[in-house]
Amino acid sequence: MRWDNLADPVGDRARDAALFGADAVTTRTFDTPEFRGITFHEVRARSIVNRVPGASRMPFEWTVNPYRGCSHACVYCFARKTHSYLDLDTGLDFDSQIVVKVNAPELLRRQLASPRWHGEHIAMGTNVDCYQRAEGRYRLMPGIIAALRDRANPFSILTKGTLILRDLDLLRQASEVTDVGISVSVGFTDTALWRTVEPGTPAPERRLEVVRALAGQGIGCGVLMAPVIPFLGDRPEQLRATVRAIAAAGATSVTPLVLHLRPGAREWFMAWLEHHHPHLVRRYERLYAAGAYAPTWYQRRITRQVHELAREYGIGPARAGMPRRIRPAGPLPEEPLEPTASAAPTQLTLL
Ligand code: SF4
Repeated sequence: MRWDNLADPVGDRARDAALFGADAVTTRTFDTPEFRGITFHEVRARSIVNRVPGASRMPFEWTVNPYRGCSHACVYCFARKTHSYLDLDTGLDFDSQIVVKVNAPELLRRQLASPRWHGEHIAMGTNVDCYQRAEGRYRLMPGIIAALRDRANPFSILTKGTLILRDLDLLRQASEVTDVGISVSVGFTDTALWRTVEPGTPAPERRLEVVRALAGQGIGCGVLMAPVIPFLGDRPEQLRATVRAIAAAGATSVTPLVLHLRPGAREWFMAWLEHHHPHLVRRYERLYAAGAYAPTWYQRRITRQVHELAREYGIGPARAGMPRRIRPAGPLPEEPLEPTASAAPTQLTLL
């Protein structure tokens, strides 16, 4: 382990604090194999509950994100752009420069107790994965779940991380007093594709074991079938294999989502495509010619195929496991509970 903060010039620390929107920044690396090459920037955040800009398009209005950056390193990750707001690059830095809000649990407990807070639904895992590898060391989620449980505050978690099973007892306790929605993200079961495009994540079958384990404990878990990757993961037999595996794991729902390529992710994904599947580059340029999203006809086709398969295998395609938006019981706070340190917008992603 290396501690760098004492060696930092004061000016650098001030700059980092301004960038990270926090009062103190400590930089650490760990020599263990799972953290090799990763730098953690520990910060004490000033606020942890974040209001979603333009929430009307989202099924939730408030989020909590204890981390920024994600060592799961999915090539297509929609959150990559957010690293540029920290003056970090959206490629390797996103995978390896991880901001850790070490005071997230205590801060959340305090903010949930605020008279300005009205117990609305909080979504987690909507920007980066709260059960990424760092969570194994920092253990922020147990304190976060406990704070939500103690206020009976409804929440949802979307993850690719098997580490969520560590917190099963807490999740069960929380689900006894409030609405808890859990979703696991599995876009495909093709192992070769997984190794190259989601290199830091647990394998798809291990994620489905999470679904199975939660179901075994009586905790319903939906699957966000995301992303469905055009020309690489969208063949009928691939869709069938994925939906069949999702059904066999006992998922309560399956919701397909086609790959989208926003700036930040697009450049990184296209460079990956050029390297691994150069013959597809022109097809992608045509499919995504209009912007970040595949054409409506393509999205509809995938959705229809997945819904038909879901019916065939006996799972509902409904969004039952997805975060629900709960309307505020009273007036909304006058300002966001988490003021952003920079002018950068909060980017919302679904894993
Ligand atoms: S898609 Fe999700 S799991 Fe993958 S790198 Fe992004 S935040 Fe992490």
